[in-house]
Amino acid sequence: MIYLDNASTTPLDSVVLDKMMPYLTENFANPASQYAAGQSTALAVLNARDKIAKLIGCKSEELYFVSGGTEAGNWALKGACAAQDGNHIIVSAIEHPALIESAKDLQKFGYEVSFVNPDKNGVISPEDIKKAIRNDTVFCAVMHANNETGVIQPVDEIGAICFEHGVFYYCDCVQTAGVLPFPTKHCSALGISAHKFYGPKGFGAIYISERAKINRLISGGKQERGLRAGTTNTAAAVGCAFALENAVKLSAEHNEKIIKLRDEFVDRVLSEIDGTHLNGGENRLPAHANISFDGCDGENILFLLDMKGIAVSTGSACSAGAVKESHVLKAMGLDKGRVKSAVRFTFGKYNTEEEVNTTVEELKRAVQKIRGC
Ligand code: PLP
Repeated sequence: MIYLDNASTTPLDSVVLDKMMPYLTENFANPASQYAAGQSTALAVLNARDKIAKLIGCKSEELYFVSGGTEAGNWALKGACAAQDGNHIIVSAIEHPALIESAKDLQKFGYEVSFVNPDKNGVISPEDIKKAIRNDTVFCAVMHANNETGVIQPVDEIGAICFEHGVFYYCDCVQTAGVLPFPTKHCSALGISAHKFYGPKGFGAIYISERAKINRLISGGKQERGLRAGTTNTAAAVGCAFALENAVKLSAEHNEKIIKLRDEFVDRVLSEIDGTHLNGGENRLPAHANISFDGCDGENILFLLDMKGIAVSTGSACSAGAVKESHVLKAMGLDKGRVKSAVRFTFGKYNTEEEVNTTVEELKRAVQKIRGC
């Protein structure tokens, strides 16, 4: 398989699995238990937390383990609203459904939500966020970079505006962890997900500033300082920490390699296939190329490429399967044809030049077939 859907998920690195393995087998004790075996796994969890906190640039006490990006976003939004007075929320219109659907959940409880649109390049303007803030605003979410287009957002400025107005600012860093430096000092909270940086699925972390007001979302035992109950997944915590450490350490090298492959791919597609358009402005993550093909349906391109063993996506991972137009491209004001014909190609550290060449050739055939020429 030629895998060009790295924004959806990445394979677990074998070196990461090696680090996790002892905690899936012989060192299986619950880290909350009091005997020696439990203390040994508790130490592994402690070390993982320290490592991730250091990489994110926060205190270990400000880092909580969760099940991934979806839970981090839900907790930030619902937890921050529950802890404060005021019933207005700001969510950018290009957020992951984890935030958009959470905001819609709260509308049912009387919260008012402002969905702030990006410009045509997919960028949320700090000025628009400032304008949306009201006296009763309690929460704002603008992601570090978008998962469909890869467009990087001016999060430092947005964070500073929120701080100035006393608004809890959540930054979804699921696509940027291990790719860009963390914008920690400008955020009330930020979330990451291990399966996006060659770590295990179903595990992530949320930084919550010690200054931020937040209630818990999951009640039960005393894990995560009583704020997120449930038996800790020691193996995943160890794997997440090791995978993030590798990703950060090698980010410059990997980014350079991935940008080169991605740019070569984009240049060839735009010049060799008529009626193609790159979606999103210049300031994008290294991995992303979101391209529309005039006269085609993105789903059809996906299926034809799949038949040749090439995996791509038509939108965010979570909307794949349920055929649904991209809310991100729509919010950017792109016309219906361009939205419907969009395909997302996302490159990763294991892709090769040969794969780029094969994909371009197969893409040409697929588009020709669909256009009937
Ligand atoms: N936020 C963004 C930007 C994402 O891309 C994703 C996953 O695609 C998520 C949140 C959800 O993360 P998880 O799969 O860990 O729940």
